[in-house]
Amino acid sequence: MPQETVGYVELEWTCVHCGTKNEGTRQVCISCHAPMADSAKFNQSGKGELITDKDLIAKAEKGPDVNCPYCGTRNIAEATKCVHCGGDLTDAAKRSSGEVLGAFQSGPQPDVKCPACGTMNPAGASKCNKCGSPLGVTAPVKPQPALPAKSKGIGIIPIVIIGLIIVACLAFVVLSARSSSAAGNVQSVSWQRSIDVMKQQPVNHTDWKDNIPAGAKVGACTQKVRSTQDTPAQNAVKVCGTAYTVNQGNGAGKVVKDCVYQVMADSCAYSTLEWVRVDAVVAKGSDLNPVWPDVASNATQRPGSKVETYTVTFLSNDKTYTYSPSTQQEFSRFTNGSKWKLTINGLNVVTKVESAP
Ligand SMILES: [Zn+2]
Ligand SMILES: [Zn+2]
Ligand SMILES: [Zn+2]
Repeated sequence: MPQETVGYVELEWTCVHCGTKNEGTRQVCISCHAPMADSAKFNQSGKGELITDKDLIAKAEKGPDVNCPYCGTRNIAEATKCVHCGGDLTDAAKRSSGEVLGAFQSGPQPDVKCPACGTMNPAGASKCNKCGSPLGVTAPVKPQPALPAKSKGIGIIPIVIIGLIIVACLAFVVLSARSSSAAGNVQSVSWQRSIDVMKQQPVNHTDWKDNIPAGAKVGACTQKVRSTQDTPAQNAVKVCGTAYTVNQGNGAGKVVKDCVYQVMADSCAYSTLEWVRVDAVVAKGSDLNPVWPDVASNATQRPGSKVETYTVTFLSNDKTYTYSPSTQQEFSRFTNGSKWKLTINGLNVVTKVESAP
């Protein structure tokens, strides 16, 4: 994602020895004159204004400062000898940099309360202007230890439900497998045949303008984001996230924002003529001569999918059983009163029908 530089801001740091807040570019504490410790971190200052001085901007771009390995004094990136003790800085460690310090807050930030006397002071102030107490950034609040996780036992109710389901499945399997045979007579037969009625109708869709099929009726179009990319393009709109501050390790922060290009395109409503199921016609009967219902076929209407169901009811020892032949050919054998040998499972479902001798 392309990053845009908004500018540079001066950061601040808190002296680990006396708690005084110092401007980022200051390398020793304004109050106790101790060098900025390696452990002291740069924070965003409360000023919220970009550096305009060209020299300061050039310094901010130089890269992270180095810490003198002999006396700990902060030195600028290109220094070869420590400004404080003259020590060789060839192998000096660079201060850490590149961390995101948070969203960039433009403009002055709210006043801060002196922890000692309660007086309100401007956000960037080093010391309380009333009692002189240091106003450094207080140590970050330690995150609360997470509550010990409760042991997650399975509740009693889910166990009961799972048990019931298992019992039901077992019962189904056992009853399906158990079978008995009985002699039965055909008591009645019935059939039902239906055909879907299809009509050509306009159907509404939405798609990118260049995807719309030829011959479609195009309606209203609106510009929408079709894709995002890192490079500018025709019909692309630049969209940037909120600006944030990145530590430069030298007392300055780089304010940047991440941007992408949203490529816009016409998204259009359109309609095409399609065959749509609008109805179904049904024929029924209680004989062995099923017929298909009539559906006229012409330019705007035609028959759709067909469904046929056949039912035979047997009477066996004062009990009735139904059976559904899958084809008309099988159905046609069940003349009224004819005798059959039925195989019936534990769920009272006829699973097999054979002609009785
Ligand atoms: Zn200090
Ligand atoms: Zn030194
Ligand atoms: Zn105070």
